[in-house]
Amino acid sequence: MNIIFDFDGTLIDSKERLFKLFSFLVPESKLDFEAYWTIKKQGIGHAEILEQQFNYQSNAIQEFQLKWHQEIEKPIWINYDKPILGVENKLMALFEIHQLHLVTARQSYEIAKNQISTFQWDKYFKTILVTKQEKEKSQLILENIEIQNEDWILGDTGKDILTGKTLQINTAAVLTGFLNEEKLKSYNPDIIIDSVANFMI
Ligand SMILES: [Mg+2]
Repeated sequence: MNIIFDFDGTLIDSKERLFKLFSFLVPESKLDFEAYWTIKKQGIGHAEILEQQFNYQSNAIQEFQLKWHQEIEKPIWINYDKPILGVENKLMALFEIHQLHLVTARQSYEIAKNQISTFQWDKYFKTILVTKQEKEKSQLILENIEIQNEDWILGDTGKDILTGKTLQINTAAVLTGFLNEEKLKSYNPDIIIDSVANFMI
């Protein structure tokens, strides 16, 4: 069976990276890590936060989003990422029986690949797919993996769940990432689990 993993928020904890970059780009923000993520996990985007809490106008929001895009995969921020506890053992166990794949909406294939190598996870993945934000995840998966209905996708966002539904495969939402349980439920995944480490099939 194919098991397809999202990267950020699913295999690695990127929350510190995003919080640090937000704090850097919005120096007037007094939001601490918990406050920032309590808002973000409700599915509230940066545009809304900037407009409502910091009174940003549309030009300033656009400028923020451009800078975010330019900065988010730079090493200074990427170095904050950490593997999620228990993921390594779970990948090792699943790899014995199944075909594992990774799909991410990152901009840079090289940076994602280097990070995966740093964690020594290359050996577990038959395929590493990076959308470079040029394609939908579902399209990239269809072009590269022979999908069957019994397969699974695991991810931390609504987008990941919708990708699974488009592909008509099983969907698992994880709570280690960018959305809370209530928000994830609204996308109707087949299962919601605390972490990839709790995934059982
Ligand atoms: Mg993710």
